[in-house]
Amino acid sequence: MSEPNAPQELSVRKLEAFQHETLGQRVLFGSGTAQEHLYQEVSRIGGARVMAIASRRDHGLAVRLTETFPSVHHHNEVVPHVPVDVVDQATLAATQTNTDVIVSIGGGSATGLAKAVALSSGLPIVAVPTTYAGSEATNIWGITSGSRKTTGNDPRVLPVSIVYDAQLTLSLPVGLSVASGMNALAHCIDAFWAPRANPINAALAAEGIRTLAAGLAEIVVAPNSIEAREFALLGTYLAGVALTSAGSGLHHKICHVLGGAFGLPHAATHSAILPHVAAFNLPASDGAAERIALALGGHDAIEALVRLRNTLYAPRALSEYGLLEEQIPQAVSLALEAVPTSNPRVVSRADMTQIIMGAWAGKDPL
Ligand code: NAD
Repeated sequence: MSEPNAPQELSVRKLEAFQHETLGQRVLFGSGTAQEHLYQEVSRIGGARVMAIASRRDHGLAVRLTETFPSVHHHNEVVPHVPVDVVDQATLAATQTNTDVIVSIGGGSATGLAKAVALSSGLPIVAVPTTYAGSEATNIWGITSGSRKTTGNDPRVLPVSIVYDAQLTLSLPVGLSVASGMNALAHCIDAFWAPRANPINAALAAEGIRTLAAGLAEIVVAPNSIEAREFALLGTYLAGVALTSAGSGLHHKICHVLGGAFGLPHAATHSAILPHVAAFNLPASDGAAERIALALGGHDAIEALVRLRNTLYAPRALSEYGLLEEQIPQAVSLALEAVPTSNPRVVSRADMTQIIMGAWAGKDPL
């Protein structure tokens, strides 16, 4: 395998036929420019009555970013995993205030609520993300009813514009930065074997891995580094585009099942599961191991991924996040039902047990 910084051999190889769809979205990126860019985008799409969705924590920020708008209704009832009653309440508020554009300010939970309102109302969204989850770059929605989270794809939920401002993520504590960043990293890695994997989303994913790994590693040692936060945000966007283009692969399917059935925290589950799914799938994913290793600045993809997870002190053991050992057989059964038919390897019960056991115990898959 080549040295990380060695010149790459230029060669060609046969490409399989593929289809790719690029989703239309404007991205405005710049530190310290959120207010100006937000105003620009809302004006561009003709928004006159804004509904600003932000959690109570982000209310002050939302007020500041929207202070130049003539009409703003602030909606602060943001709850993780987008419960259906919270969606109904927000949708009613949008109707009563005659909203014509939704502005979401916050992490995946605020973006998720904006998407759920857009799903039934068709209202356009301008998203201002403050974490590295990446939901703003996808057309994927999720709504929870009882203990069941339903997800789907719909063009109406794709934000029309994204306003990225790394200054807004400076307040995100290192632990939350790493957790949401590992979620974004998982979007990139899973994209290599997801159902609609193709060379275009692989290129986006590889650059997403490189920028996320560099950005997150720097955030851990220098949390106030604006350059590190910018890299992490750029990687976040690339990861979201790769995920929405390639679809959910084995990794996301397992995480979704575990999160829904056992109430495990979203980002920590991604971080714990990722190296185990990667170790299982990479031997059968043509060329992916080399590209991931290169993007992570290592010789071996799994070794480099494990090293990054250690460097970031990222979550690793599901046993620490609420999964009980006696729940593992049920988790394995549920996860087996969700395996995509396109996965490059057939997954036996023993394979899935090894993946989930490894993540439960927090082992390295070496
Ligand atoms: P989140 O939005 O719940 O935010 C996590 C915590 O960080 C919250 O307590 C929030 O108040 C706080 N926070 C947010 N921004 C902050 C900042 N700048 N400074 C300090 N604290 C801040 O979680 P998340 O990790 O952003 O997103 C996870 C959710 O997003 C999950 O529900 C997941 O399913 C969803 N998601 C969806 C997609 C998609 O494509 N639909 C993609 C990725 C994630």
